[in-house]
Amino acid sequence: MDSTELDRTRFYVEGQWVTPLAGDTQVSLEAATGKPLGTAALGSAADIDVAVRAAERALHGPWGSTTAAERATIMRRFAEALAARADNTSALVSRENGMPIALSHAFNGAAPAGLLQMYADTIESTPLERARPSQAGSTIVRREPVGVVGAITPWNYPQVLAMMKIAPALAAGCTVVLKPAPETALDGYVLGEAAAEAGLPPGVLNIVVAGREAGAALVSHPLVDKIAFTGSTAAGRIIGAECGRLIRRCTLELGGKSAAVVLDDADLATFVAGLGDATFQNNGQTCTAQTRVLAPRSRYSEVVDAVAQYARDMVLGNPLDPAVTCGPMASEAQLERVLGYIDLGKKSGSKLVAGGARPAGLPDGWFVEPTVFADVDNSERIAQEEIFGPVITVTPYDTDDDAVRLANDSEYGLGGSVWTSDEDRGIAVARKVRTGTIGVNYYMQDLGAPFGGMKSSGIGRELGPEALDGYLEYKSIYAGAAQAG
Ligand code: NAD
Repeated sequence: MDSTELDRTRFYVEGQWVTPLAGDTQVSLEAATGKPLGTAALGSAADIDVAVRAAERALHGPWGSTTAAERATIMRRFAEALAARADNTSALVSRENGMPIALSHAFNGAAPAGLLQMYADTIESTPLERARPSQAGSTIVRREPVGVVGAITPWNYPQVLAMMKIAPALAAGCTVVLKPAPETALDGYVLGEAAAEAGLPPGVLNIVVAGREAGAALVSHPLVDKIAFTGSTAAGRIIGAECGRLIRRCTLELGGKSAAVVLDDADLATFVAGLGDATFQNNGQTCTAQTRVLAPRSRYSEVVDAVAQYARDMVLGNPLDPAVTCGPMASEAQLERVLGYIDLGKKSGSKLVAGGARPAGLPDGWFVEPTVFADVDNSERIAQEEIFGPVITVTPYDTDDDAVRLANDSEYGLGGSVWTSDEDRGIAVARKVRTGTIGVNYYMQDLGAPFGGMKSSGIGRELGPEALDGYLEYKSIYAGAAQAG
């Protein structure tokens, strides 16, 4: 595929493919080869303004008076249209950001359609209006859509992270302006095509790929009612501050530096089998990645050897090859960032036990060897800062309480795991870790349960029926009083 094959230079706004008003175009490069993959437009604040106004019109148009059942019907059609495109979408995202293809099938192919179906079912069974007795008569308690939603997403799981916002928003009756990240500028088209095919009314979903400046214009646009953001904690702080100033609702899904706690009775074969999902998922470019392995001193060298061997055995290469377990980093900037942290690790008192360099034989893409540092003090920068690549630290501990203290000795609280032969003991430890999600003997996101972070990992929850709360406002209508006279 050459640079002209994928022309993604228009935006999906108000049901039309429109030419950007201003702004740049970029040639998107394939992560595994560094070669051109397609051309994409990058929007400006002016494009965001047009999209928000379209969303606002749609909110006050026929969409605003649809029933839950009507919205559910359209959402199911949207799901079908996405499912029909799932193979192409998965492959495209893998080429953009280096995600191994099986994972991309799950998160960019299957999950978005599944989420639309799930929230279609949820909204049909959620009462949106109920009367209850009051002192004066009866009060009608209603739930109304929050309004125009600005959804801002990162490049690591572009399709599912967008749909984790779009699906509950549509179910609630909101309208949406999605701003995907420039690193994955090409796959957002699929959402527009499928929405059009499903008959989503014009303006209900609008998509403008753009950088930070236009993202900031979306955050502060006067007609936006809520911001749903997934990305770095640094950007989340800026966005949260602006939303606070504007008294604008926001959910913030931010960074992580999660711990995998290996208890002294752990079955190491189970732990090693789970490392791919828990720790190295998407080449380490996963917000919940458990990149801090905490190992009991009594079995320390066993754990270090197992993690190092796993890292050495990972198969690097083109993520479209199903045998590949570690693809490239998503961009050159991301590769430089990861290599910078590896240098930092080498200069610290930690011991490099696997990887530590770019792999020989893969000079073109943005590859880095899965890397493991042992004997890492938890206060080191490589144990405290989110690296967002396949770089793991191993730190020894003495008692379960010590392990919990180390797991919690982090600015973040997003994911985590506990590995043990005694599930009750694992659950007891899991209860003590200050984190939004944690697995016992495996880690895999459950789309049916609330997902999000504690501490600097964010505010609010996505997924599960609970996510609907972020897209609905309560209103109480005091009624039913006896008329005077
Ligand atoms: P990023 O914060 O640089 O960018 C994310 C998105 O926000 C992009 O679309 C970007 O253009 C936009 N953006 C950045 N600054 C902005 C601003 N000031 N105003 C408006 N928009 C702005 O993050 P990234 O590098 O693309 O993604 C990686 C980060 O995302 C990691 O920290 C990762 O942990 C986090 N993440 C979190 C979750 C979660 O659910 N908690 C999921 C995936 C990724």
